[in-house]
Amino acid sequence: MKIQCTHCPQQYEVSSGHLGKTVTCQTCGKSFVVTNPATDTQNLLEKEQKQVENLQALMDYYAQRSVGNERAQSTTQVSDLADAQKDETRKRVFTSNKSFPRNSPITSEDGCMSQSALRIVTMSYAGFWKRAVASFIDGIIFCPVTFFCAGIQSGTICPTITGDHRFLLIQVISIVTGWLYCALFESSSKQATLGKMAVGIKVTDMNGNRISFGRASGRHFAKFLSSLIGGIGWIMAAFTQKKQGLHDIVAKCLVVISR
Ligand SMILES: [Zn+2]
Repeated sequence: MKIQCTHCPQQYEVSSGHLGKTVTCQTCGKSFVVTNPATDTQNLLEKEQKQVENLQALMDYYAQRSVGNERAQSTTQVSDLADAQKDETRKRVFTSNKSFPRNSPITSEDGCMSQSALRIVTMSYAGFWKRAVASFIDGIIFCPVTFFCAGIQSGTICPTITGDHRFLLIQVISIVTGWLYCALFESSSKQATLGKMAVGIKVTDMNGNRISFGRASGRHFAKFLSSLIGGIGWIMAAFTQKKQGLHDIVAKCLVVISR
């Protein structure tokens, strides 16, 4: 069967064994889940062909009602019209990826790659302890910020700031630095904070692709939810099927072993 990458116009010829598997597109490098394409190209073509047949039948009916020369003439015109529409449909369906470059040697004439070009992605989810160690390392990296905040609290840094303002300043500094650190690193090409890089894990979307800064930010702030009720959201990573914490589920993310 023929499938198309969900991120780019590249098409692949695959066996039914690929159904439901996550694969990486060789052209755009992104991953997607293989679904049955029966609803796409084939159906569109069949639907339009049926429409043409209906139109033809209708026109034949009116043609039969007319008389003499007129009858023959209009039938010819109708079938011309029907043929033209059929051609139009074929053109639209089969040349839909014409604008796409076919520079790959394994691409066949109609821009379709064989399934050998598709790499099946086997995602190994990062376990609770790897993630815990990564968080611990990130905590160590954050020590300067923590000391800085402690300095503000004790009045060693910015002694002129009064109590309430100190508290507010510490909150702003810790929230903003934590957010930027996690969201920028996890949406980067490394897809991991320094702690995650150190233990060889990364954050992906549900298909194994890199996440955006916005998504990474959403995941980060959902950690506040995970921290509620004795941090049950964090512990969830130890027993959920895809080893997701609550913040991963909320942001539809995975933490996987990077290769
Ligand atoms: Zn692609």
